[in-house]
This record gives sequence, structure tokens and C-alpha cells, in this order.
Amino acid sequence: MQPDLGAIHHVVLDMDGTIYKGKELFACTMPFLAQLQDAGIGYTFLTNNTSRSKADYVAKLQAFGIECGERQIYTPADSTIAYLEDHYPGSVSIAVLGTPSLCAQFEQAGFTVTWDSPQAVVVGFDTTLTYERLCRAAYWIGRELPFIATHPDLVCPTDEATVLVDCGSICAALTAATGKRPVVLGKPDPSILLDLCRGLGLVPRQVAMVGDRIYTDMVMAQKAGAVAVLVLSGEATAEDAATLEEPPDVVVADIGELGPMLTASPGVSR
Ligand SMILES: [Mg+2]
Repeated sequence: MQPDLGAIHHVVLDMDGTIYKGKELFACTMPFLAQLQDAGIGYTFLTNNTSRSKADYVAKLQAFGIECGERQIYTPADSTIAYLEDHYPGSVSIAVLGTPSLCAQFEQAGFTVTWDSPQAVVVGFDTTLTYERLCRAAYWIGRELPFIATHPDLVCPTDEATVLVDCGSICAALTAATGKRPVVLGKPDPSILLDLCRGLGLVPRQVAMVGDRIYTDMVMAQKAGAVAVLVLSGEATAEDAATLEEPPDVVVADIGELGPMLTASPGVSR
């Protein structure tokens, strides 16, 4: 079924490979955001990276010249908070294998972050990981506490001479030590996008998810029922897209090509 791009009220943008690559903003990004603003279409930035705070991302985007507030930044820390509140109401103390900024986000949401008698264990992209805390996390997971991963990524892309061991790999070590597997949130789990739609008061078909990765961005969009827009400015190629059993709704070279398609669609009803 052809998506009704005139019905799109909100665009959710992946970041790396979609609006910039590494340290370089795409030339089409600022004009695209201006087009959305002129058309009254809102936008949110969505990343799987839980090592940084929303304030860090606001600062990063502002350094590129993109004006945005923390409300426009969404990470799986948000869906993890929603998941805990939904599934374990009243569970207020959690052990977090994560950066100080991730711990602070849980504390701001009303959780007590502790290694003493927690009620659940949350694992994020812990760039401050220590052996002692890894062992403590394994201990509590082995005691049958809920085990939640903020996202599945095994490594975080980098052009430095290193491998950034990400949440999925840290969880793999914990699974090997305990025999327990985590509940995995973040892209491609659709709950992060569905939560976002709910928060905006929109149904998924009024939201376009734009990203460069098929197995995270596009799979999440399709599971959530949002309009899936693949950009070829990052990881996926046109050949990758052509071989898919369930292709994205829209495939464009970059967001520069998408802008006019959204704003000039017939039946615009915003
Ligand atoms: Mg990307």
C-alpha cells in the first residue's frame, strides 16, 4: 500500500547516516528541517545510544547549528523508563550498568539507582564499565531479577582504532555468566516509536521514521506501523533495499529528496 505522505504530521529522524555522517552535517539537513517547520511538521531525533544524556545531544546538534530542545531527543532510556513503569509498577530501586548520565536520567524519572537490593537490573551502553559492577549485575540477574537491556547494539560505530563494545556485548557477557537473557528495548523494538507516537497524540501512520539502517530503523518502523523511509546516505545501499521481502515505504537518496515529497504531497491535511 502506498503511504499517504500528506498525512505525515511528525518525522522521527535517526541521526548518524541520516542527518550527519560522523562529524559532518549533510548539506541537505538544514534546508530539510526548515521545510518541515514551514509545513508545520514536527520532528524528533532518535538514537539507540544510551551513553550520553539528552543535554549532550542537544549540545551536539546545536554545534551543527540545529536548534532543538531536550524534548526533541529520544533514546531507549525513555522506553526503558516506560517499560519499568508499565511492567513493574512500584519498583523504584534499580541497578544500572550505565554511565552517570544514564543513571541521572533514571533518578530524574523517580527511580533510586542502587546496587543494594535493587528490584531490576538495567544495562545500557556503559562506557564507564568496571569489572566490579559487571560482577554485581551478574549477581542480581542470577537472583532472578528482571534483566533489561536498553538496546541490542553489539558495537558502536567509530572511525578510531578501537572497538566500542556496546550494550548487546555487555549483555552477552552477563548471559554467559548467568544463563539469563535480557528483555531488549531500543531500535528495532517498536515500543520506543509507539511511546513516541502516544506522547504526540498521533497514530503511527501519521509518523515517518527516517533512517539509514534496515535492521533497526526500518524494522522498527514496520513493526510499529509507521511510514518507513530509508535514506541511502548512510549504511544501506539501493541494492540492499531492492532485495528486501518487505521493502520500506519510501527509499530516497537523502533527506533532501524527502523534503519536497512530504511538503508537496496531495491531500496535505495538517
Ligand atoms: Mg544511523
